Amino acid sequence: MECQGEVIAGLRAAFHTGVTIPLEFRLTELKGLLALMEENEAQILDALHRDLRKPKFEAAISEIEIVRNDICFAINNLKTWMLPEYVGTNLATKFDDCFIQRQPFGVVLIIGAWNYPLQLILLPLVGAIAAGNCALLKPSEISQATEALLAELIPKYLSKECYVVTCGGAEDTRRLLENRFDHIFYTGSQAVARKILLAAAVHLTPVTLELGGKTPCLIYGRIDMKTAAKRLVWAKYFNAGQSCVAPDYILCTKETQDALLPAIREALEAFYGPDPQKCPDVGRIVTDKHWNHLMDLLGKSKGNVTIGGESTQEEKYIAPTVLVDVDETDILMQEEIFGPILPILTVETLEEAITFVNAREKPLALYVFSDEPQVVTTVLESTNSGGFCANDGILHMTLPTLPFGGVGASGMGCYHGRYTFETFSHKRACLLRSWGLERIGALRYPPYSDTRLSW
Ligand code: NAD
Repeated sequence: MECQGEVIAGLRAAFHTGVTIPLEFRLTELKGLLALMEENEAQILDALHRDLRKPKFEAAISEIEIVRNDICFAINNLKTWMLPEYVGTNLATKFDDCFIQRQPFGVVLIIGAWNYPLQLILLPLVGAIAAGNCALLKPSEISQATEALLAELIPKYLSKECYVVTCGGAEDTRRLLENRFDHIFYTGSQAVARKILLAAAVHLTPVTLELGGKTPCLIYGRIDMKTAAKRLVWAKYFNAGQSCVAPDYILCTKETQDALLPAIREALEAFYGPDPQKCPDVGRIVTDKHWNHLMDLLGKSKGNVTIGGESTQEEKYIAPTVLVDVDETDILMQEEIFGPILPILTVETLEEAITFVNAREKPLALYVFSDEPQVVTTVLESTNSGGFCANDGILHMTLPTLPFGGVGASGMGCYHGRYTFETFSHKRACLLRSWGLERIGALRYPPYSDTRLSW
């Protein structure tokens, strides 16, 4: 991270030339990003495999397709998004042009996390480009292969003056944040997010925070347990549980738990075979440090491992694991797990489960599984979370038509599809006054009379 100040000054100079403003420039850059994705698929899959031993299918849908779809969505809609948005007027402004103009902020900083290292840099970048900004990209240093690939490919496909990748760790990023940016888009942990906010406060920089938290999964009432277990296992163990929207823990009754456990075993066996360690569709924990942390949690938990529990340090492998007899004081319930470990907590009633969820920080996602519409509606209406998905997991974040983001401690702001464009745009309130009807306009001038005007 050499000469950060010079790099940022270069981006600012490029922004001030106005080069990023025309629709044609933005479309050219978005098409460049699409070409990057299409011409380097093998290298991308290889980098993700080296970083996380990401299974090819998981990498294809969660890192490549999702980005490609979002780019195409932006290319197809950008002209409309950029149009002035005309708004209603009142008597005093009836003959004026009143509209919202979307303007780029300027130079934005995008900081990514390691679990979806390509997606978490490129999805925000789509909106930053679409909105007409210049951008400095800071991928996670933990997913080294993807970081290096982004640093190599971005300058080959995008304007070098307007989009720059900078590599480095926590200390480099801390120094980077001493500079003024016009918007900071951060994905990562709540602890680091506090530091980002403090650094942003110095320059009064607006911030989007995409964070994590403990995503609850409520399973209640009548249910097709086999299908529920398949969907749950897929959502939980995708990317070895290292997803910000992975189900973090299950809340269900003892009876449901008794029916759920064999269904989970069956789904795991069907997906990964008798020994998941040998299955190419099971990813790995990102680093030794993260592996040690997860094993420490598992070792200190008072819960009983009833499925999985096997591990191998050399391979950074942890088997898909389920624990029962976990209560709210357990170490697994104190922070986001972010690995292939799933505790089950039992409750007596749906109300108890809802009270449990509402007594904690607002999660990034909330899942409910039930064949009873009334159960789904009750949970939907009596809880709060960044996103919500009934009878499945993760899927709500795959649509570019739905906003993705947290609430409370799970984040602020949102993105995906048009929402990313909006996140990186200032909404400028514009009123172009006409010269007519001055007789009515003049009613507001002093000396004031007691006559009330109805605006
Ligand atoms: P992290 O906070 O450790 O790192 C994220 C980024 O912050 C990296 O680029 C890193 O270099 C930088 N960073 C680290 N320490 C820093 C410091 N002291 N000052 C400035 N920058 C610093 O997060 P992580 O471990 O990479 O990610 C895991 C977390 O991210 C989980 O909580 C997960 O739920 C969350 N997450 C959220 C989303 C989402 O979209 N909401 C997506 C993925 C991950």
